[in-house]
Amino acid sequence: MRIYDDLQLDYCDVLLRPKRSALTSRSEVNIIREYTFKWCPKTIKATGIVAANMATTGTFEIAKVMQANNLFTALHKHYSVEELTKFLRQNKKEHGNNDLIFISTGVNDKDFEKLQVMMKTKLVNNICIDVANGYSPYLINYVKQVREAYPDSLIMAGNVVTGDMCEDLILNGADIVKVGIGPGSVCTTRKLTGVGRPQFSTVVECADATHGVGGMVCADGGCTVAGDLCKSFCAGADFIMLGGMLAGHDESGGEICTKTFQTNELEPVGQNAYQVKLEEKTYKKFYGMSSQYAQEEHYGGMKKYRASEGKEVNLPLRGPLEPTILSILGGIRSCMTYIGAKRLKDMPKCATFYRVSRQLNTIFD
Ligand code: 5GP
Repeated sequence: MRIYDDLQLDYCDVLLRPKRSALTSRSEVNIIREYTFKWCPKTIKATGIVAANMATTGTFEIAKVMQANNLFTALHKHYSVEELTKFLRQNKKEHGNNDLIFISTGVNDKDFEKLQVMMKTKLVNNICIDVANGYSPYLINYVKQVREAYPDSLIMAGNVVTGDMCEDLILNGADIVKVGIGPGSVCTTRKLTGVGRPQFSTVVECADATHGVGGMVCADGGCTVAGDLCKSFCAGADFIMLGGMLAGHDESGGEICTKTFQTNELEPVGQNAYQVKLEEKTYKKFYGMSSQYAQEEHYGGMKKYRASEGKEVNLPLRGPLEPTILSILGGIRSCMTYIGAKRLKDMPKCATFYRVSRQLNTIFD
């Protein structure tokens, strides 16, 4: 029996050490990075935050807000060819290009057929190849197939959590490897299967391996606050994919429901008569893409041999997405001034971490 003894860390297990820095203001740092890739010949200037290709976050509405802030979106794969084409055509007119948009695909023949149709439109060049278990041979074979068919496309593929597999994916045609198994906010893989790896250690190892062969890494899942994104960029992530942090907003997908609660207050009803005051709260559904809810919603029911590896939650409505995004970007800029990183790309080389047993004071939470 082999047991890896090295302590595996999550974002909550570390904090960044502040450093003497000549940067005096957040306005002196640049969070726009010029991305160049191993295979795709294109250069893209943006901040490497990607809305997850979940049905609730990889939406057209979210894409517009992300794009307006120089951030990416991986559109979910449940949009039809017609819907995608219409959006991409319009977006190209409005924004000038679709460089910040990925279309998503699974790895079966039907997925490839749809991808071929989409690529024929020449409206989009970025492809997110997504399977829950990136260790299956289907993923590597599919990456090879897509790279052969579209040599100039930008390919992101995953998910895996080890350096060896990252190298394989890059060498077989991926530009970006997506890493993370089980860290997601609505993921139950670790609970159900016992498989996974703490995300901070995953990013550190995978970034090192991936950069070694000229690729890039996208840290997928597990960010709960802006500080987690700062730690992730510092650990070596070139891109970070977000689900939960973008969910529950006006632009997010998901059913809206209202619940009624009893309060501690009484309200008068007529003379000398009172009743418990009720309060209504509105929620938006957010669900894992392999949750039972998603299976029913998008695949017409749960297959018997499959287990649900995701859950559904109702989030209190959070209003428009833009303030959330601005606060995340503000956090990253501020972190850069704390550690003396002038450019996003410089964050890992400016970073030193403390391993901690407690990172937050939660007395008033
Ligand atoms: P979050 O930012 O919410 O922590 O994580 C988002 C990521 O969780 C997604 O990009 C995806 O990789 C992962 N994810 C989404 N739905 C599911 C699911 O049903 N099961 C599992 N295992 N992972 C999921």
